Amino acid sequence: MTVASVVVDVKNLSVDRPFDYLVPPEWEGLIEPGMRVIVPFGSRKVQGFVVSLKEKAEREQLKAIIEPMDEQPVLTEELLELGEWLSENTLCLKIAAFQAMLPAALKVNYEKYLVPAGGNPGEDPGYFRELFQNRDKIGWDEALRLVEKGALYRGIREGLLRVEYRIKSKGTVRKETYYVPAVPKESFSEKRASLPKTARKQLEIADFYLEHFHAHSAAELRERFPQFSGPVNALIRKGMLKKEEREQYRDPYEHQAVEPSRPHPLTPEQEEAVRPVRRAIESGEPDVFLLYGVTGSGKTEVYMHAIRQVLEKGKEAIVLVPEIALTPQMVARFKSRFGDKVAVLHSGLSAGEKYDEWRKIQRKEVQVAVGARSAVFAPFENLGIIIIDEEHETTYKQEETPRYHARDVAIRRAQSHRCPVILGSATPSLESFARAKKGVYKLLKLEKRMNNMPLPSVEIVDMRKEMHAGNRLMFSRLLMEKMKDRLERGEQTVLLLNRRGYATFLLCRGCGYTMVCPNCEVTLTYHKVSDTVKCHYCGYEGSAPKRCPACGGEHIRYFGTGTQKVEEELKKLFPEARVIRMDVDTTRRKGSHEKLLKDFYEGKGDILLGTQMIAKGLDFPNITLVGVLSADIGLNMPDFRAGERTFQLLTQVSGRAGRHRLPGEVVIQTYAPDHYSVKLARDYRFLDFYRHEMNMRKRGNYPPYYYLVLIVVTHENAMTAAKIIHQIASFLRGRLDERTIVLGPGASPISRLNNKYRYQLLIKYKRDPNLFPALKQISRLFIKEQTKDGVGIHIDVNPYSLL
Ligand code: ADP
Ligand code: ZN
Repeated sequence: MTVASVVVDVKNLSVDRPFDYLVPPEWEGLIEPGMRVIVPFGSRKVQGFVVSLKEKAEREQLKAIIEPMDEQPVLTEELLELGEWLSENTLCLKIAAFQAMLPAALKVNYEKYLVPAGGNPGEDPGYFRELFQNRDKIGWDEALRLVEKGALYRGIREGLLRVEYRIKSKGTVRKETYYVPAVPKESFSEKRASLPKTARKQLEIADFYLEHFHAHSAAELRERFPQFSGPVNALIRKGMLKKEEREQYRDPYEHQAVEPSRPHPLTPEQEEAVRPVRRAIESGEPDVFLLYGVTGSGKTEVYMHAIRQVLEKGKEAIVLVPEIALTPQMVARFKSRFGDKVAVLHSGLSAGEKYDEWRKIQRKEVQVAVGARSAVFAPFENLGIIIIDEEHETTYKQEETPRYHARDVAIRRAQSHRCPVILGSATPSLESFARAKKGVYKLLKLEKRMNNMPLPSVEIVDMRKEMHAGNRLMFSRLLMEKMKDRLERGEQTVLLLNRRGYATFLLCRGCGYTMVCPNCEVTLTYHKVSDTVKCHYCGYEGSAPKRCPACGGEHIRYFGTGTQKVEEELKKLFPEARVIRMDVDTTRRKGSHEKLLKDFYEGKGDILLGTQMIAKGLDFPNITLVGVLSADIGLNMPDFRAGERTFQLLTQVSGRAGRHRLPGEVVIQTYAPDHYSVKLARDYRFLDFYRHEMNMRKRGNYPPYYYLVLIVVTHENAMTAAKIIHQIASFLRGRLDERTIVLGPGASPISRLNNKYRYQLLIKYKRDPNLFPALKQISRLFIKEQTKDGVGIHIDVNPYSLL
């Protein structure tokens, strides 16, 4: 008899191993490793993954599988093995690793259907035809009531039936408040005439309506008249306006057809870079290449040449990009080169759409997958290359379980498939560059920009001096002068507001009170549009107080610089300039990101103002000026990578200027003009930056000299969390190698999050065979507390956030 080993969906370390189940005779031969099944577990029915099958002669007392969930495996043998590896290396449950490799749609509610698959009509058993009775599909449950399960599965196997899923729609309708004229224009105008002269706001709004006599949304009014609700309500009372809730349709993102493009003949420099990659593709060497090439040096073209070779060999390629919504141009280039061979795992797609793309891969209808981090799990079976663009980006590290880094997963998969990996960047991570220098990775270089233009010249402005000279604006005189010049010449400017770990917040000038999230001890961010304060960690939202909650004073104001505030100042300085603002608020809607970029590309804006999201991927010919408004934000964060991130950001954003015929200029404003990251970024001295930063890392015992493990314990009660972290610390002492360093334990920099106190310790190690066994034991030993008491124990191997 056949026995299946099944990893069950029960999130508990004590059952983190396969359990044996009998394969019932009717599914003999139909159940395979990599399929999901429903099995009895205790008194429950749970989902599980079949990881292997074995034949057993003797009868054992085993429970049987209840039913399979898939008609073909959702995980290949290779991905099952990768799951084991993930669970070992990131210390997560096997079930969590398996689930992370599948599209979200396979985790949420879906409806399962059967459709006729148009097999050989001669073999079509009558009862399948009867099953459908002229319908084009039938619900799975109904089919089960009509036909024996085993027969359905055989029908599926023989290609007569096919299973389809449809995501149950969430059915949310967006509503928005509108204020509509309540009377015809003439009587509106009469009523306006009888408004008291003192009601200035009401008069202003009434005049606005007379000029634009139609419905206006609350959002629009709020933008024009910040304190609109009092006067508008007065106009409603006077019978001039009425309030209506209208349905708001989501703007469906229109996929433009992309023009097919032909490969460019490579330049000699590109040719030299691609040659070793070609050799590795030919010989099936799982080499890792670090393609270090300045911005605009033609890295993407090199990727595409390598991919073409892979496709010619009948193999497949994965391309990872940091965050796909931010790189529409990149996606368009792959689509235009490889057409319908490309599946895009786009973060802007709905769960259902993503699932459709995933199935194209599973059914081998496409050979190239372009996507963000999780696309590294694309279920290809014949991989010929994996490419990670902008390999230094931190979005490649997943910050929740399983806490994997896409680079590690890519290298592991490449070893299984015996294919090369290309890591590309103009500012490689220190880890990767150090490995390339040691020869672990192979270094490829592109030193020239395609257009043979020099990199844009960068000037640093010391904002302290601006202040002393009496300029209290956010713009230095130099930047203003250059912007004015671009406006006159009809060229475009990109303005970057670096606001990592920094945003607008409320501060009482009287007593110094700042508003902190009641759950998280994190400063709340002020949002002007809605006049609310929000917590970016837990989602807490409240209305902004008019008076200081602490001292009752009226001088509570918002501080810091948000993109909206910059936009306001820009409008005052350059009333004629057309500004396109791109931040979380203006890009929330699906497709809005692409639309704003397209507008800018088509010249519908003079200035593109945005946060980090504009630093990447833009390749627009008319951008000749880049301004960075606050380069040093983040340098003071308790993060050993702060300098590296600043260097990378400044280099990336500078690379947006002067990519085509027109030369580019960059102005960086900062309060820390002497910081090495700022100075070296100005001169594009990556190698010097690398040396300097490596010295710092060496002195601080940080990566790449040491590896890190961060352990965080969270609990509602500070004492409980502190007690457990101390127990963990004393457990580790004596068990670890003597060269391994344990820092802490102590309170986390963010000491409270989501109503839970946080304590942590940081382990630094080089080689320590005892560490992972000890970490696993920690999970086991402390598991009781974790499940019993709401204690959270998080172990992050190679953490990116130390907060
Ligand atoms: P990177 O990815 O390094 O920033 P890109 O691949 O985007 O650089 O190249 C910059 C520009 O040069 C793009 O517009 C691209 O189409 C063009 N380009 C790249 N390689 C070639 C080539 N061999 N011949 C002509 N144009 C090229
Ligand atoms: Zn919060």
